[in-house]
Amino acid sequence: MADIIKLLPDHVANQIAAGEVVQRPASVVKELLENALDAGATQIKLIIKDGGKALIQVVDNGIGMSATDARLSFERHATSKIQKAEDLFNLSTKGFRGEALASIAAIAHVEMQTKPEADEVGTHLKIEGSEVVYQEVAVTPKGTSIAVKNLFFNIPARRNFLKSNQVELRHITDEFHRVALAHPSVAFHFYNNGSELFNLPADNYRKRIVHVFGSRTNEKLVPVEEETPIVKIKGFITKPEFAKKSRGEQFFFVNDRFIKSPYLHHAVVAAFEGLIKPDAFPGYFLYLQVDPGSIDINIHPTKTEVKFDDEHTLYAILRSTIKHSLGQFNVAPALDFDH
Ligand code: ADP
Ligand code: MG
Repeated sequence: MADIIKLLPDHVANQIAAGEVVQRPASVVKELLENALDAGATQIKLIIKDGGKALIQVVDNGIGMSATDARLSFERHATSKIQKAEDLFNLSTKGFRGEALASIAAIAHVEMQTKPEADEVGTHLKIEGSEVVYQEVAVTPKGTSIAVKNLFFNIPARRNFLKSNQVELRHITDEFHRVALAHPSVAFHFYNNGSELFNLPADNYRKRIVHVFGSRTNEKLVPVEEETPIVKIKGFITKPEFAKKSRGEQFFFVNDRFIKSPYLHHAVVAAFEGLIKPDAFPGYFLYLQVDPGSIDINIHPTKTEVKFDDEHTLYAILRSTIKHSLGQFNVAPALDFDH
């Protein structure tokens, strides 16, 4: 029989990868914000039009890219963040797969302007459906701006599957919240269709939470703090009387990355046992720091799931820490740490 297996061309492989990486405009927002953070930005601007269908732009003041790197950043598996397999077990960056920009450029019109601080001039690069339209020298500020237009322009089924602008904006806002809450020391601006939705100055954790969710949040927060050899926990839970019927403000961050964990969620809820109705949910903003070698975040392309080495111990520590904080709050309701 004749050989029939062929390697797929890059642009096809990229489009397949994009299927996993880019579910909707909010996925692009997440990837671009994380790249800006990995670039060491202290100020990040997010600009959206029409729920991200017309435009998603992220402007940062990070390290920027050389002309060669700017081009290479759109290749699949091209990354400055890891070099060898062992690096996967000691990650300190949000990204490491080298897939996001290649995926996004395969299914959208992308325009990048970037300049490292030390360089006189920068690079302006346009790429559509994995094809470079042009790359030229440009006068541009330090840092990187990436604009993504016409998402899914070449995948009508995906484009049609998108929800209303309002719903897509809600997903984007959720993603923005997660990133902004994880990085209070970074200033964020968020504009939608020309109007400012958020203007978050660099802050501490409590102030960032209050800035994002409104001033009435402040009185709801009970501080949580614990340090053990396997985990450092900081953050806040909401007072039992503010528990809600609907799921809402519940955030776990592990090493500054938002994660979803039904198991750890259960640990928090268990700590509230007897204090809230069985069908109510407490709010929480919990920041866990663990040894990067004790977790695996390479489970899914979106990296919102984490595998912990010792999940059961973590569960026990978390539950008892929160019980303790709730106890302290009952005895001394005026206690108020600033993080
Ligand atoms: P990853 O983040 O996994 O490395 P990406 O496709 O998101 O993969 O980005 C590829 C590379 O492009 C990054 O490793 C980084 O070197 C560079 N890059 C992307 N965005 C930025 C940015 N905003 N500022 C500086 N460099 C960036
Ligand atoms: Mg990335």
